[in-house]
This record gives sequence, structure tokens and C-alpha cells, in this order.
Amino acid sequence: MRILVVEDEKHIAGFIKQGLQEAGYAVDVAYDGEEGYFLAGTEKYDLIVLDIMLPKMDGISVCKNLRKDKIMTPILMLTAKDFVEDKVEGLDAGAEDYLTKPFAFKEFLARIRALLRRKETLVSTKFQVADLILDLPGHKVTRAGKEIPLTAKEFQLLEYLMRYAGQVVTRTDISECVWDTHFSTTTNTIDVHIHELRRKIDEGHKTALIGTVRGRGYMIKG
Ligand code: CA
Repeated sequence: MRILVVEDEKHIAGFIKQGLQEAGYAVDVAYDGEEGYFLAGTEKYDLIVLDIMLPKMDGISVCKNLRKDKIMTPILMLTAKDFVEDKVEGLDAGAEDYLTKPFAFKEFLARIRALLRRKETLVSTKFQVADLILDLPGHKVTRAGKEIPLTAKEFQLLEYLMRYAGQVVTRTDISECVWDTHFSTTTNTIDVHIHELRRKIDEGHKTALIGTVRGRGYMIKG
């Protein structure tokens, strides 16, 4: 995994580079926006860490220009600014995530891992957990080779759980990503769908794949 860090403050750039290298990533550093934009467009990176306040070209412009050039490398924006409008501007410009300086390195790494994971799963069209396979283009789910008919919503819900296999997904995550809405927390729609999914996926099998994480949400075992 190769990461480009665009940061003009040398000590911060050095600190980020060292931390990322220790975590096992290959790292290039650009010290101004123009250099960052050039490198991002000519080299292949899995992720870009982009400061907003940069000489020559600011981070928002770098991000906008990259997206205009159809370079869709995930971008984690970094800035000392802590104003809501800057965050909105960064995300509107096409950044995937945003972190305010100073930050805890542990959180920084967690965000990077999440973005890299998301990148992988976004291009993936087939998900497999144990003997359960979800084929996205074929719109087909099988377990132990046997096809399982699902409703459209159940399929979406299972796809979401499988994208994040091994991680807890909360009801809020599910309502936002599967139902595209925040609905009342008293609703039991999600639980009803999970119940149905379990019945179809797990019933009659030795291993139950869809687990409940008490007080947190659901998880499909990775
Ligand atoms: Ca800066």
C-alpha cells in the first residue's frame, strides 16, 4: 500500500511519514499543493493524505483538480482549521474523510485503514464469508452452493454486512446506508430484516454467520 502525504509543515510531514512507515505503508511526501497534484496524477497511490493550507495550490483545489482529472484515489483531508464550512468544502471537493489537527495518531491510522478497506470493497463485486457468497452483478446469494432467494432489501442489507465482514455495523450505519435515511430509533424494521436474513442464511447450518453484538449492532463473522 502506497500513500502520498501532502503537507507543507516539515515536522508534521516527517512525523506522519515515519508513523505510516512504521505501520507498514510506503510513503511519498509532497511539500506544496502543486507538487502533490503532480505526484497524485503521475504516480499510483492507494490513498492521499492532503493538508488544506498549502503553498502554491491549496488542498481543496488539489482535490477538486484531481477529481476533475478523474483520479479517484481516496483522500483524507487534514487541517488545523476546525470550521464546519471547511469540512463541508473539503468533502464537497471530493475528499472521502476529514481529520482536524492535532489528531491522535491512532485515530489517523484507523481512518486510513477504513478508507483503504472501503476502497477495496468498492471495487469488489463478489463477497465471501465462509461458505456464504454474495455475487453482486449476478444478484445471487448462495450458501454451501445452494441459492438463497432474498428480497431486494435483504440483499442490500446482506451486501452491507458482508462489505464490512468482521466489523460491527450499528443500526445507524444500516439505516443510513441501506435505507438511506435516519428513521426513528424505536423502529424495529432493521431487526425484522435481520431476523428474516438469519432465518434464510443461518437456519439449518452448523455455523451462524450473522451475529448480534449486544448494545452495538450486528456483525457478520469474518
Ligand atoms: Ca499546512
